Amino acid sequence: MSEKVLNKVRKIAKIFSLRYNRNVFRINYLPKRELAIISYLGGNPDFSKFGNNIEERTNNIEDFLKSQEFKKEARKQSGCVTNSLIIAKYIKSIKNQKVKKYCEIILKALDKNKDLILVSKPTNFKERKFTDTIILHEYLHALLNYNNVKLQKKKKEYWKLDEALVKYLTDLKV
Ligand SMILES: [Zn+2]
Repeated sequence: MSEKVLNKVRKIAKIFSLRYNRNVFRINYLPKRELAIISYLGGNPDFSKFGNNIEERTNNIEDFLKSQEFKKEARKQSGCVTNSLIIAKYIKSIKNQKVKKYCEIILKALDKNKDLILVSKPTNFKERKFTDTIILHEYLHALLNYNNVKLQKKKKEYWKLDEALVKYLTDLKV
């Protein structure tokens, strides 16, 4: 299905002498609502208003679930590359038992991979057409992570540079 996308990623890896491992590129499809929650717990900087560490994010998860930000995110097609170990740690700290249970169920349904590639499940033709664009974006993040090219590890604010790098690679004609 996303063989065309994988081909592009493989070519990009070759151009820049990056390590390429097909096993890294396994996708989990999630309903938009669930993806928004996992992405929030995974530290998505778009939600920094609700905190920047485990404690703040898990304390504020109920506010997040009631917020406009969540509503908007739960409608939008998106994807993320995240780390299941970090998410499990976040879920453990959620105080509201109902929310906690819900998050545990989401996490259980995912790959046991440490690095998770999550993409929202398309619900119509238009969304299905756009899904490859999202997959390419997330695959490039995964490729860079796999090669230890992750500037935000140095400084949180550098996530914008990581995005710029992915954007540059996405636009490459290969
Ligand atoms: Zn991105």
